[in-house]
Amino acid sequence: MGINILIVDDSSVMRTMILKTLRMSGLSLGDIYEASNGVEGLEILNMRWMDLVILDINMPVMNGEDMMIRMKANPEMRDIPVVIISTEGSKTRIDGLIKMGAIFIRKPFTPEIVRDAVNQSLRSGVSHG
Ligand SMILES: [Mg+2]
Repeated sequence: MGINILIVDDSSVMRTMILKTLRMSGLSLGDIYEASNGVEGLEILNMRWMDLVILDINMPVMNGEDMMIRMKANPEMRDIPVVIISTEGSKTRIDGLIKMGAIFIRKPFTPEIVRDAVNQSLRSGVSHG
């Protein structure tokens, strides 16, 4: 069984780059879904089982921070691991997301960095039950 992943980023170029990187990472992938903001991302999480969310921070309509806050408030979504990929420079903002359980990757990234972050987030998801 592969890992079902939801990629949430307002840049279609970045979503494609993340997808390519995932394919090069050696991870066993299941179904990959894409959303361009937090509202679309939550809609997909309501409909489909995801093992992991890869999340941008700066997006229109609903940003990654607000999406993650909503995920944590929803018992059906709160245990889904989140990997943040962003150029975000605010340490306060990043620390807040890490406190909520996210793993943070700064752009630019390599397949190895993405693979390690995904594996780490899936492990921590399991340990929290
Ligand atoms: Mg963005």
